[in-house]
Amino acid sequence: MAIMTNRDLYEILGVSKNASSDQIKKAFRNKARHLHPDNMDSGDEAAFKELAAAYEVLSDDNKRSLYDRYGHEGLSGGMGGFDGVDLGAFADLSEIFSQFFGGTVRGGRRSTVERGSDLKVELHLDFLEAVFGVKKTITIKRLENCTACSGTGAAAGHTPVKCVTCAGVGQIRQATSTFLGQFTQIITCPNCQGEGTRVEKPCTGCKGRAQVRKSCEIELNIPAGIDSGLRLRVPNAGDYGKRNGPPGDVYVVVSVEEHQDFIREGTTIHVRQPVSFSQAALGCEILVPSVEGAKTLKIPAGTQTGTVLVMKELGVPNLNSPTVRGDQLVHVIVETPTKLSAVERRLLEQLADLRGDKMNLEKEEKAPTPEKSEAPKHKSLKNKKQKDPSIIDKLADVFRTRDDSDSSSEK
Ligand SMILES: [Zn+2]
Ligand SMILES: [Zn+2]
Repeated sequence: MAIMTNRDLYEILGVSKNASSDQIKKAFRNKARHLHPDNMDSGDEAAFKELAAAYEVLSDDNKRSLYDRYGHEGLSGGMGGFDGVDLGAFADLSEIFSQFFGGTVRGGRRSTVERGSDLKVELHLDFLEAVFGVKKTITIKRLENCTACSGTGAAAGHTPVKCVTCAGVGQIRQATSTFLGQFTQIITCPNCQGEGTRVEKPCTGCKGRAQVRKSCEIELNIPAGIDSGLRLRVPNAGDYGKRNGPPGDVYVVVSVEEHQDFIREGTTIHVRQPVSFSQAALGCEILVPSVEGAKTLKIPAGTQTGTVLVMKELGVPNLNSPTVRGDQLVHVIVETPTKLSAVERRLLEQLADLRGDKMNLEKEEKAPTPEKSEAPKHKSLKNKKQKDPSIIDKLADVFRTRDDSDSSSEK
């Protein structure tokens, strides 16, 4: 990006000569947002380019010190510094623009056509929509050709004319004399801003920009098995290209809501299923929630807490081959009864008696620990399965919240 200004660079950014790099960055961001050509209210392409040029210098320590010492002449080549496009600075600029505007600034030489910017849209899906896929209509705001002027930028009765300064090329050679001698630079034509044409009387609909931002609806077929963080590309749905250039794309970034019953791990679905002490001991049939509604599951007699039972093909369809489905894993939690009625207590005591369960230690059997013995550690899932700590932590978390809500609802 060649320097296209004779104004003081600090003044352009509105910062003092000893501003920190953070202050410079901040000032640039504020002004760039205001002046960016896509901003319909306050956009100003010429001022924006001047601002970008000023920032390119002042955000680079080497260039800034050259400028501080020699002014504009220090930057116009020959100082062992730079000339023309500086890729490092440009990468930084593009990054900043993509943060603000969803697109990127394209550097280098202008071609006659320009591809439109890509647009990014976030899409929230609920859990089941992501599992089974869904049709969605999203609204985007993209640059389209202005209908008032048919994309020419000129008011009715006027047509854009070839720029006299650059003869329609968009760039001119400029000789600069410095104390080191004469240098020739190729710079963007200041008369037409590189367009190659001039609009005598601009269209009022688009302020001569030939494009306007319009709302547009896009229909999306979200495939079954999509997951948080995945991106869908909708080709050619982004900003229209300038001068009939090809359109950009739309990227849809998906985020999926959590579900109160299900925890997803790829194509596997985990479910926590509490059963009572007697159900686990005797075996039983229960209804377990699944993404296809409640399904019958046989709990075998003697099931221990933490047992994982598999319900085949009740998981998430594989994104790439939807006929292949994951399984649902049921984590059985045996609940020890807490509030016992007198009858229940008596029955349990009888059971303990029958099984010869020892309730108290004889004096000589007790371990010689003076302190209170620790409560026995609950054999939780955490200890049993260490396959994937993240999913186990997630499960543990859900169990905890579930337990909390269970106990609070009892009150
Ligand atoms: Zn020109
Ligand atoms: Zn127009």
